[in-house]
Amino acid sequence: MFTSTSTARSSGSQEKGENKIMDKKEFYNKFSLLSRNFYDNYNRLENLTKQMLAENELDFFKGIEHILGRFESTLPEFCTACENNIENLHQILLVILFLTYLHLNDNISAKRIRKLLRKKGYDEDFPTLLEKVEDFKPNDDKYHGKIITAQYDKRIEKLGKFLISDFDKVEQFIKKKWGNQIPRNIYINLVDSVGPSPFNSLLNCEAYFKVGHYKNAGFDRDTFTSYVVHEIMHFHETSYLFRIFPKYNERSSYKFFDEGYAEWIRAEYINKKKEYRIYADNCAYHMLKSNLFELNDIKDKWFKVMFDYLNCPIYETATSFTFFLEDKYGYDKLDSFWKSIPKYPQVQSWSEYLKLYFGEDLIDLMTEWKEIIINNKGSKKSISKEIITHFEIEHTDNENMVFHYTSKYPLWAGHNIFIYNDEMKLQMIDKVEKYRFQKDGHLKMKSIPSGKLNIAVCFLQYNHNFEYLLS
Ligand SMILES: [Zn+2]
Repeated sequence: MFTSTSTARSSGSQEKGENKIMDKKEFYNKFSLLSRNFYDNYNRLENLTKQMLAENELDFFKGIEHILGRFESTLPEFCTACENNIENLHQILLVILFLTYLHLNDNISAKRIRKLLRKKGYDEDFPTLLEKVEDFKPNDDKYHGKIITAQYDKRIEKLGKFLISDFDKVEQFIKKKWGNQIPRNIYINLVDSVGPSPFNSLLNCEAYFKVGHYKNAGFDRDTFTSYVVHEIMHFHETSYLFRIFPKYNERSSYKFFDEGYAEWIRAEYINKKKEYRIYADNCAYHMLKSNLFELNDIKDKWFKVMFDYLNCPIYETATSFTFFLEDKYGYDKLDSFWKSIPKYPQVQSWSEYLKLYFGEDLIDLMTEWKEIIINNKGSKKSISKEIITHFEIEHTDNENMVFHYTSKYPLWAGHNIFIYNDEMKLQMIDKVEKYRFQKDGHLKMKSIPSGKLNIAVCFLQYNHNFEYLLS
């Protein structure tokens, strides 16, 4: 999957003679220092790593194998180094090893590592995340832009071709937004499956998107492409994050902030910031007032909340917080968040940076945000409008109830539709069809004795509340 595309960045010739013989510690320190501005120093970092490889045995990288996983040119050595230490390899590195084998088109090794991950219980902590990814079989036809190479699975030829058909727009946006502070080659793979999509956080330029829930429709394509922008936003952060890379106990607060931020950028890309803000605030209201989790839980147990409420708008809730920050500090301050990291050389950790940059603790900001959302009952700017044109129960038994609806807009059950019982307790609902955005669709929930349901529908700036009597 190597491409011939290259950027105008300087070649590594300046490195010649620059690096004396270094021991492991010296090398790691130098690598860390250069990584503070990852993309600007990309060539130097890559050459330095290759030089160390040439001068030393692979054992030199024991314990710092991850460095080899950062460059396409050192991936084969990364795999060997990981295999040499496979018994002690951290689960995160095992996932990356799996994704690296896929990148190298070595599906047999990928499947072996996938099996090992299953054995180690990975799927219990991160259910469905890696599912079907190892079955990715790329079609020969691909999108080949200046930066992005996109491939789709052979089994979804028509859909894949359609979904990647406006990637030129993505390239224009990311170039304008971040210039050279993104990877020079980005690989987007469209997998024939549904569920959350993993990306290689070391190589940091490749993502596997599950696209089975998209249809051959304009709305779906725009949504999918905007998620690609969301992902590239994550790639961009890497340029600055190295020095304060979130420690294990900071990963939750980091993800909460980071996912909301990436969604905020996604709204900018689709040019629907005002509308998405109203929607995000309304989603946050349903999530926060229902007391499904504590505020501290989305800060400290992000992954647990996310997987516990996989069909709920958790990302939208995080985005509502990002919009709150934009209100409080202004667009420019928020937009400069990542690129300002080098201006704070004294900070030692992710949480310290966030606190110094905004001047307040994350939890205090979150508390302030929650109060506003609850007081405003979501967004005061919502426009009341009929969204659902038909809603009725289609099937019920002791376990489940299935409803059919028709709508003026494509709705995602659980994300756009909220159902409460007569005691105003939020019910968990799920989509029935494989597709995510449906104008004519079904949704499912557990059977309840309630006589009446209160239904709230949110779609961008619109909301629609109605009651449904269960006879
Ligand atoms: Zn994300």
